[in-house]
Amino acid sequence: MTTCLFCKIVNKQLPSEIVYDADELMVFKDIRPSAPIHLLIVPKMEQRHIDSVNDLEPEDEKMITAMFLAAKKAAKDFGLDETGYKLVFNVGRGGGQLIDHLHLHLLGGWKAGEKRGMP
Ligand code: AMP
Ligand code: ZN
Repeated sequence: MTTCLFCKIVNKQLPSEIVYDADELMVFKDIRPSAPIHLLIVPKMEQRHIDSVNDLEPEDEKMITAMFLAAKKAAKDFGLDETGYKLVFNVGRGGGQLIDHLHLHLLGGWKAGEKRGMP
């Protein structure tokens, strides 16, 4: 049994506000949003558990591509593709990472002049 929060969410052992559920990843809403729109792109870890960008290997190329394409699709579906958005990977505690399961933050939806917070 995994103790990882994001494994539990992508395995549907814990609830989340799901945006997309694909074979290789899930996109869901961040529970404590740092922006008007704050989504998390979270791969399903079937082979091995990837804690952060520090643990990526060349064999993860397909998964990383899928994460960026899911972010692009979500940005378009949430109307952010024209206004712009941020994509953020926090890496390690010093980088602000709290959950050791690789994930990409998608942030956007600020009004003109509004402070653009970071997760
Ligand atoms: P990080 O600090 O990069 O590890 O990001 C973890 C993110 O997960 C934070 O922005 C949290 O608000 C978010 N988070 C924590 N628990 C949940 C949850 N149960 N559902 C959705 N998002 C969560
Ligand atoms: Zn995990």
